[in-house]
Amino acid sequence: MALKLYNSLSKKKENFKPNRSQEVRFYACGPTVYQRAHIGNFRTYINEDILKRTLLLNNFKVRHIMNITDVGHLEHDLDTGEDKIEKEARAQRKSAWDISREYEKLFKEDLKKLNILPADFFPRATEHIKEQIELIKKLEKKKYTYRTKDGIYFDTKKFKNYGVLVKSKLKGLRAGSRVSLGEKRNPMDFALWKFSPKVEQRQMEWPSPWGVGFPGWHIECSAMSLKYLGLLIDIHAGGVDHIHPHHTNEIAQSEAAFGKKFARFWMHSEFLNLGKTRMGKSEGNAITLDTLEAKGFEPLDFRYFVFSAHYRSPLSFSWQALKASRLGRLRLQNIYQDAPSNLKNKGAGGNKLFQSFKKEFTNKLNDDLNIPAALAILYAYLKKNKNIKELLLFADHILGLALNKFKSDAIPDEILILTKKREEYRKIKSWKEADALRKQAKKLGFNIKDTPGGPVIEKIH
Ligand code: AMP
Ligand code: ZN
Repeated sequence: MALKLYNSLSKKKENFKPNRSQEVRFYACGPTVYQRAHIGNFRTYINEDILKRTLLLNNFKVRHIMNITDVGHLEHDLDTGEDKIEKEARAQRKSAWDISREYEKLFKEDLKKLNILPADFFPRATEHIKEQIELIKKLEKKKYTYRTKDGIYFDTKKFKNYGVLVKSKLKGLRAGSRVSLGEKRNPMDFALWKFSPKVEQRQMEWPSPWGVGFPGWHIECSAMSLKYLGLLIDIHAGGVDHIHPHHTNEIAQSEAAFGKKFARFWMHSEFLNLGKTRMGKSEGNAITLDTLEAKGFEPLDFRYFVFSAHYRSPLSFSWQALKASRLGRLRLQNIYQDAPSNLKNKGAGGNKLFQSFKKEFTNKLNDDLNIPAALAILYAYLKKNKNIKELLLFADHILGLALNKFKSDAIPDEILILTKKREEYRKIKSWKEADALRKQAKKLGFNIKDTPGGPVIEKIH
């Protein structure tokens, strides 16, 4: 089956092929580096990684750009409030430059821990001020801009296709943003360039033809996407909160400036929630990867957890579910370590089996990245065919669980199953049965320690 992706523009699954030859031009909105990225953010980046790995599986080349937003993202997405990075710098009594570099570094370390393939380039907004000014100048020349006391704004009324991503909701959104109209001509107009405030000195500011200030958040992505991927990119991705206003405004600026379509496919990943609330920095419920690690989890446990839902469905985080994912991941690692590499010995039969697995597994991914279904195919084949190494190795190109990395203290399957069962007993407060299982594990040479993050299994040396 050829690759099909849901396109937020058409609200349909469409056949995907890159526009130019075999190379996919892929732009993913990167983090605003004013705090450590949380696992909600990483759900989106893991889903984007599944997309990239699936593109590679389909033998496409991928040119992947992810920006670093190190200036211009204001507290409220509708151009009001303080710059998030300047605000955090003041709170921590550090320079805005130190803050953004520190969190960018941590972000990249976390990407690595989660086995997310790095972008080809991570351009920083602060290093592309010239390009952003050029783009604003282009818009000004075409009369899409106007000036207010606090900046240069994009006049959305002048762009006839404004809001293609949010068509049906545009009316409601317009009404909602009327409150913060200020000097703006229309409620949805947005800042391209903001002037530095007169009362206090900003740390990050630049001269421009309109006055000293800094770029708006949306213009960053339009300018950097243009510089590194050219006009008409293949896929632009982000979380669902980016649909509006960020992506709506990126489309408006880029298409107004060049009179051409900006991106062919838009991919939006649903939220990671805590209960019914979205996980977010401003919601005050953000959990970061270092907290998971402090509780004894490994980052790849979270990666496996993300596979439990399709990227367009919300996913609810719980420690209990993460524990189950940890056991599931370790189990897969064990199966890999114990599995024979025996396709070659099976001759033509082996090859047939491998080909049919590849096809079924790939078909699920090609159906709009259905990772839970692909994982189910893997388990069904492992069960039916007595765990063949080559199947796991192939699947791991997508799963990215580093299954072939040797682990000296591997925990036998028996212990994992026993631990899982013990957790079930503990959940229903059957302490006697739970204790008996702990003793059984000890006899087999493993200690099960209960931590706030769940059971930690250690080999007794
Ligand atoms: P930000 O640093 O706020 O620009 O967010 C970085 C990425 O994480 C964006 O693609 C957001 O859409 C995404 N994101 C933010 N919160 C969540 C969440 N709770 N679940 C999934 N993705 C999220
Ligand atoms: Zn962006």
